[in-house]
Amino acid sequence: AKQQGRNTYEVYTEDLDRKLSQRVTLRSELQEAIEHGHLNLHYQPLINREGEVDGLEALVRWYHPTKGFISPAKFIPIAEETGQIIPLSRWVMRQACKDAQQLVAQGLLKGRMAVNLSPLQFHRPNFLSTLRNVLNETHLAPEHLELELTEGILMRDADGAIDILHALSGMGVSTAIDDFGTGFSSLSYLRDLPIDKIKIDRSFVQDAVKSDKNAAICQGVITLALELDLRVVAEGIETVEQHDYLMSLGCEVFQGYLFAKPMPLDSLITWLTQKAQM
Ligand code: C2E
Ligand code: CA
Ligand code: CA
Ligand code: CA
Repeated sequence: AKQQGRNTYEVYTEDLDRKLSQRVTLRSELQEAIEHGHLNLHYQPLINREGEVDGLEALVRWYHPTKGFISPAKFIPIAEETGQIIPLSRWVMRQACKDAQQLVAQGLLKGRMAVNLSPLQFHRPNFLSTLRNVLNETHLAPEHLELELTEGILMRDADGAIDILHALSGMGVSTAIDDFGTGFSSLSYLRDLPIDKIKIDRSFVQDAVKSDKNAAICQGVITLALELDLRVVAEGIETVEQHDYLMSLGCEVFQGYLFAKPMPLDSLITWLTQKAQM
């Protein structure tokens, strides 16, 4: 038993060492990717109840020269820890606004381009001035931009957050709470903060047709959102059944592989053009 215990320990530390060195490698490779422009944006359409495009969400992609596709779920948390999220986010914001403006000019985007924000980015003292600069440089009207924030961002410095949210709302930039329901926050911020939209996390959405508890959560969130005059989005819709069910609950906007996967700008332009001709 003793022997076994030691082996288990060794395996454990080796595993930990390997993970740690992977992270260190990833960190320096991410630095290179940011500097050499190896990051890319994909865009996923959001669909309203009539089946029309309501807006788009920008999602960052990293194609590693040898390792291939690396998921943002893996590198965003590392970038957040190392501070690399700051230059990364700056690039994402500028590129998303630039592409959004191109789509607006081509008559292909009437709604908003949504950009995911990181906590570090949102709470930087120069966040608002940087954002204004990007909008000026890219000529994107603030009415075409939406920022997606997590509950964690708002909880980190609630007083600071409220000032920034009011400033954004004054500018005409809208805000959405992402992954709603997965954080441990109080609901009072929905009353106190100028937020426009709630995105129900896909973990609730996808199981809503299988689990009564998840169905009840979706129903509750949608009712709450409508009562509070917030728009509500269901994330991760993959089946017609999920879509029908969320429709029946009164959900207003839908996002998921059932409608479209995130795609690069050129494919998106083709997709939007075809959709406009339908
Ligand atoms: P998120 O903001 O919740 O983005 C939605 C995720 O769900 C995306 O994963 C999208 O590809 C995926 N998705 C969309 N429809 C479906 C569906 O029907 N089924 C399933 N299974 N998944 C679906 P992705 O692109 O891998 O991004 C993961 C997370 O990484 C994002 O979650 C977001 O938290 C973060 N992220 C992505 N891009 C950025 C960025 O530019 N900045 C920051 N700060 N975070 C980002
Ligand atoms: Ca998001
Ligand atoms: Ca989300
Ligand atoms: Ca998520």
